[in-house]
Amino acid sequence: MTLVDTDTRQAALARLREAVGPKGWVEAADAGTYLTDWRGLYHGRAAAVVRPGSTAEVAAVVRLCHEAGIAVVPQGGNTGLVGGSVPHEDGAEILLSTDRLTRIRDLDPLDNTVTVEAGVVLQQVQEAAAEADRLFPLSMGAEGSCRIGGNLATNAGGNAVLRYGNARELVLGLEVVLPDGQVWDGLRRLRKDNTGYDLKQLFIGAEGTLGVITAAVLRLFPRPRQREAALVAVPDPAAAVALLARMRAGSGDAVTAFELIQRQGIDFALAHVPGTPDPLEAPYDWYVLVELTSPVAGTDLRDKLEAVLEEAFETELVVDGAVAASDTQMQAFWALREAIVEGQARLGPQVKHDVSVPVSRVPAFLEQAAAAVAAALPGVRVNAFGHVGDGNIHFNLSPPEGLDAAAFAVAEPGLTGAVYDAVAALDGSISAEHGIGRLKRGDLAARKAPLELDLMRRIKRAFDPDGLMNPGKVLP
Ligand SMILES: Cc1cc2nc3c(=O)[nH]c(=O)nc-3n(C[C@H](O)[C@H](O)[C@H](O)COP(=O)(O)OP(=O)(O)OC[C@H]3O[C@@H](n4cnc5c(N)ncnc54)[C@H](O)[C@@H]3O)c2cc1C
Repeated sequence: MTLVDTDTRQAALARLREAVGPKGWVEAADAGTYLTDWRGLYHGRAAAVVRPGSTAEVAAVVRLCHEAGIAVVPQGGNTGLVGGSVPHEDGAEILLSTDRLTRIRDLDPLDNTVTVEAGVVLQQVQEAAAEADRLFPLSMGAEGSCRIGGNLATNAGGNAVLRYGNARELVLGLEVVLPDGQVWDGLRRLRKDNTGYDLKQLFIGAEGTLGVITAAVLRLFPRPRQREAALVAVPDPAAAVALLARMRAGSGDAVTAFELIQRQGIDFALAHVPGTPDPLEAPYDWYVLVELTSPVAGTDLRDKLEAVLEEAFETELVVDGAVAASDTQMQAFWALREAIVEGQARLGPQVKHDVSVPVSRVPAFLEQAAAAVAAALPGVRVNAFGHVGDGNIHFNLSPPEGLDAAAFAVAEPGLTGAVYDAVAALDGSISAEHGIGRLKRGDLAARKAPLELDLMRRIKRAFDPDGLMNPGKVLP
């Protein structure tokens, strides 16, 4: 990092203020929400909080910071779960929010693309696509708040990855302000482009450590005309994985989402939304929420769903279930699924793990990880749920009844170590979709292959030799 004196910093901050104007300058008294992460784990301070209103303003801010040796922390909707979007506590960095970069620049139904600025909220991208009779398939619980730049910077996953892929598979082009303030215009709409390294993919998933994404060209798809869903109880996770294979084959690969839910998660969700009835007649240990979609209306999708479920019931892969009779019931299934996260968060401390293993190894992971955490802290409550169709499990832990938060915090490193050991034994990943941020930096350093870490450091140095772009995140 370049060392500069206080006067140079103060002069640079004054010029920043001029560069973004009054609308783009957040007074210290109003900066609070930008400086604390969604989980409340990190409370940072910033030399300034700026909200540039255009790519040119972002470039001016980053260039001024580069000249003055001031580090920049990009922020979108601030819904990230690993502390990547807030500055450190020393107050030396500036926070650059994209919340004024909200223009939808273009939507082309023939190219099937939408070009959006980084600060457009994910739900607004979905709505713009729907208005043009198209689908933008990225979807997750935070979609009303997270912004597309943040989605791309974290290579977000979500509920429809099984069918449409992660965020990186939904991007054709990017515009990025590089750490020295240059603007890279890679806003191409090409479906095929084999002209050397695919630079955009380096910025996607880099969590703001290589540059500030200011705009993107996103892929659109035909809008589904028919949706069917069922919530079923399965005897165990092995049955869930077997059911997934049968559902894909039996529906003509129409499965859009396939979510595994443990009973503990249903209990958290029901406690969070009082008055919600238990979804099936009796409680079960494991559930699956499956959704099928078709771009054509009036097909036999529902018959196919019911046929697979009936056959699964006969062969005891499914023990109970309900097929959504209406859109309202389908929404209620999804509301229950989404309430798990907030339900657990409201009911006290938790340790979250967002991990992945090959789909076929999900049952082994769940068994081994549950045994390991029970040995580390008897009585610990496991709430495992998630996108089992992608091998992505949120393996979240709550303290045993009666154990206070301080004692649970002491047990945390042992619990996380046990979960990550189970992941490593099955060739998995310690971060499936939330990223590394600040929270998992140490774990990444300890568990990533040295050669891979070295390659990542070389890429970081090539793009950001002064280490001014979101320092202290991802790489140790
Ligand atoms: C209730 C809930 C449910 C969630 N469900 C999912 C889920 O299903 N799948 C999933 O993947 N995630 C999920 N998340 C996590 C989170 O919503 C995603 O990581 C989301 O993509 C973050 O977007 P954001 O705009 O809030 O980014 P932020 O939190 O603002 O930032 C995240 C990271 O990206 C960087 N960044 C932000 N904008 C830019 C930019 N323009 N250029 C460069 N870097 C940038 C930041 O510096 C930071 O490192 C969930 C979160 C919540 C709270």
